[in-house]
Amino acid sequence: MLVRSLLAAAIVGALTTSSVAKPVVEMELAVMGGQGPEFPKLPAAADDDAGNAATITLIDGRRDPNGAGVGVLNDGELASAADAPQSNFFLSPEVDGGRLLITLDEPRDVKSVRTYSRHPGGRGPQRYALYVRDSVDEAAQDELATDPADENSGWKLLTEVDTRKLGTSPNGTAVAIKAGDGDDSLGRHRYLLMAIEKVEPDDMFGQTFYSEIDIDDGQQHDPPPGRSTLEIEGGYAIEFDTTQTPQLTPWVDKVLKPICAEWYPKIVAMFPSEGYEAPRRFTITFRAGMRGVAYTAGTSVVCAGPWFEGNLEGEAAGAVVHELVHVVQQFRRGRARTPSWVVEGLADYLRWFCYEPQEKRPRVNFDRANFDDSYRTTGAFFDYLARTHGAEIMTKLNDRARRGEYTEQTWEDLTGKSVEDLWLEYVQSERQQN
Ligand SMILES: [Zn+2]
Repeated sequence: MLVRSLLAAAIVGALTTSSVAKPVVEMELAVMGGQGPEFPKLPAAADDDAGNAATITLIDGRRDPNGAGVGVLNDGELASAADAPQSNFFLSPEVDGGRLLITLDEPRDVKSVRTYSRHPGGRGPQRYALYVRDSVDEAAQDELATDPADENSGWKLLTEVDTRKLGTSPNGTAVAIKAGDGDDSLGRHRYLLMAIEKVEPDDMFGQTFYSEIDIDDGQQHDPPPGRSTLEIEGGYAIEFDTTQTPQLTPWVDKVLKPICAEWYPKIVAMFPSEGYEAPRRFTITFRAGMRGVAYTAGTSVVCAGPWFEGNLEGEAAGAVVHELVHVVQQFRRGRARTPSWVVEGLADYLRWFCYEPQEKRPRVNFDRANFDDSYRTTGAFFDYLARTHGAEIMTKLNDRARRGEYTEQTWEDLTGKSVEDLWLEYVQSERQQN
């Protein structure tokens, strides 16, 4: 309701400049739809716009290294979660603003410019001024870098944007700058300049989380190199994105895609629930400069480029198989939250004891380990339970967790024993064998 009433308050501002007639600024907060955030009136972030082939550079100000590089600004996607620094570009708290130079591959008839941001709080609103040049001639970098406030800079103010009156939505904010109300053009341009300001000047961390900049010239463009969709058996489709990590594209194409094509349908078949349908479409995105290994949020798998680059011969593919389990799980969050050792234990059971070959399987140090150590230790314990009590026990465990019905009693229901007793049984049996 809050979002709806804020939408009702959406403002449409108009501003005249000398270069083109009356650019119109439309702005809107996203609502949560069936497939994720949706903008009721404005288009979703596009991956077929002229921005794909644009070069975006920060020519003034400083990027916050906790966020992503400028590459996220034309990858065709809104951030995958409400507060996902790695999916957004934002400026450092040390600067008051900065300027992004957008260089199109060739002069284009610009119909509209759209900008997308996503943050649940003070970093959601957008404040910037958009400048264009009268000339489409190639300009030198130092010429382009002159302050647009300087009247000889060659830059002309197109319009100013301030979405603060809309408030903020965890689902995202979109702005569209158009010429008039129809198919009019904002002019023929090679260069655009976005002069970004802090949301609130006195809020040190008030730098907007920008997800995407789209430049619409009325034509369809190829998706950015590194984006591809894999259609697999059972009507499933996986969208891969290595736009930020082109060095990983050959590995994704040759190694990862066949593994996903084989294992996603297998995992779906292994973890069913009555009336439940696993996601038909999801994304696997590799991010440059991301720390950690990988995570899954809803139908977005996000992988840390640097870690994958260093582990292509080793654990890289298995780490994605682990995330595929999370895509299939779609456990409900909230009150009846499944303990994470069960969630991760199931993912690592599938990964290490179904997908990985025998010789790679982890060994457990029984002097220190416990059943709720999570990941591979719990995975090894679940493997023992699957071998001794039947593999369907994992299907049932996953089903309970997906319904939000997992409790300690689940173990008694499935095996007639407590989880502590099952663990002792496992430790004893392994010790006898070794
Ligand atoms: Zn996990």
